[in-house]
Amino acid sequence: MSAATLPGQPFVHYHEGQLYVEGRALQQLAQRHATPLFVYSQAAMLAALAAYQRGFAGRDAQICYAMKANSTLGVLQVFARAGCGFDIVSGGELARVLAAGGDAAKVIFSGVGKTRAEMRQALDAGIGCFNVESEAELDVLNAVALERGCRAPISIRVNPNVDPKTHPYISTGLKGNKFGVAHERTLATYQRAALLPGLRIVGIDCHIGSQITESAPYLDAMDRMLELVAAIEAGGIHLEHIDLGGGLGIDYNGDTPPAADALWAQLLAKLDARGFGQRKLMIEPGRSLVGNAGVCVTEVLYLKPGEQKNFCIVDAAMNDLPRPAMYQAFHRIVPLQEHADHPSLLCDVVGPVCESGDWIGRDRQIQAQAGEYLAVLSAGAYCVSMSSNYNSRPRAAELLVDGEAVHVLRERESVAGLFAGEQLR
Ligand SMILES: *Cc1c(COP(=O)(O)O)cnc(C)c1O
Repeated sequence: MSAATLPGQPFVHYHEGQLYVEGRALQQLAQRHATPLFVYSQAAMLAALAAYQRGFAGRDAQICYAMKANSTLGVLQVFARAGCGFDIVSGGELARVLAAGGDAAKVIFSGVGKTRAEMRQALDAGIGCFNVESEAELDVLNAVALERGCRAPISIRVNPNVDPKTHPYISTGLKGNKFGVAHERTLATYQRAALLPGLRIVGIDCHIGSQITESAPYLDAMDRMLELVAAIEAGGIHLEHIDLGGGLGIDYNGDTPPAADALWAQLLAKLDARGFGQRKLMIEPGRSLVGNAGVCVTEVLYLKPGEQKNFCIVDAAMNDLPRPAMYQAFHRIVPLQEHADHPSLLCDVVGPVCESGDWIGRDRQIQAQAGEYLAVLSAGAYCVSMSSNYNSRPRAAELLVDGEAVHVLRERESVAGLFAGEQLR
C-alpha cells in the first residue's frame, strides 16, 4: 500500500486503497463524469497561494496569477475571490478574467506580441499595467493610448540575462530569448518611455523562466533588478512597483523547489538591505499555484505487450496532457485503486492519438488492468490550458473539489460542438 499522501500533493491521498482528492474518491467521480477527467483541489490552490501570502505578510504586495497555467473560469474565480490579480498574455485571457469576476485594475498584460486591438481592449477595461517587451511596442502603445485619450500604465520587462552556466534551466531570461528588453538597453528604454505622452511609467518587471527549482536564479535576478531600479531612479524616473515574475517550480518527480515563503524571506532580505523594503512588490506565479492542485483521471483501454516495449493504452492523450509530447515532461501516474495482487507491467503509458509523440509516461511500472483507472498527477498547470482537439477529440471535463463538495467547472465538450462553426459549401 502507498503512503497516505502523495509526494508534493498534500490534498491527494489514498484511503483504504482508494485515491482521493480532498474528501472525494476519484473512482466515483470517474464513474459519474466519465474520463478523461480533470479534478482540482480548491484547498491545494489556496494552500499554494497562502505560502506566498505568508511570505509577503506585512508588505505591500500584489499576487497576479499567471492564468495561462490554467485559465478555466472556475479556477480564476478561486483566485479572484482570494484577492489575486492576474497576469494575462492575450485579449482572450482578459475577457476570461472579467467573465470570472476578476478586477481589471489588478491585471498586468505581458507578452511580446500584443496587437493594437488587444491594447485598446485592455485600456478600455482599465488594466493595472502593461509589461512592455520591446521599444517598438512602446511606440505602438503610446499611439494607441493617445488615440484613446488616455495614458497607458507601463512597466518594462527586463531580460536580466542570468548566467546560463550556473542556472542552465532558465529559459526566458537569457540573451537570445525573445522576451523582454536587454539588460543594457533598459535605462535608455525607460528614458525613451518617459518622453512619450501616452505612457505613464509605474514599474519594472522580469520573468526569468519556469519550473525553477533553486533560489539562486531569483536572487541573482533580484540583484540585477535592484541595480537597474537604482539607476533608473537616479535619472529621475520613479518606479512604484517591482515585479519579479513567476516561474517557481513544483514537485513533479522528486523536484525540491524552495517553498514560496522561504524564497521570499531571502528576496525580501535583499530588498531591505538595499533600502527598497517599502516598495510595492508584484509577482506572477502560475504553475506553483495550480500545478499540484490537479490530477487527470484516465481509463486503461488496453494492455498491449510487445517484443521491445509494453504499452498501457489509456483514454487520455497528448491533446489532453501536452507536456510530455511538448517538453518530454514527467507526470507521476498512479492507480485509483491499489491492487496489491495485480501484476505490475513495465510499460509506456500512451494515448489513442495517431502520433508516436503521444505518450504520457515512459518506462513506468503500472499495476492496472483494462477497465481500471489511473491518475496522472501534477496536471493542474499547462494541461487543459494547452489542450487541443487534435484527432477530433472533445476536451475533457473539469471538476473542482472543495472538501466533499464537487463543482463542474467545465462540461466535457461535445463532438457536435467541435465542428459547430464549420461550413459546407
Ligand atoms: C508563463 C509566465 C508566468 C508564469 O510562469 P510559471 O512558471 O507558470 O509560474 C509569469 N509571467 C510571465 C510573463 C509568463 O509568461
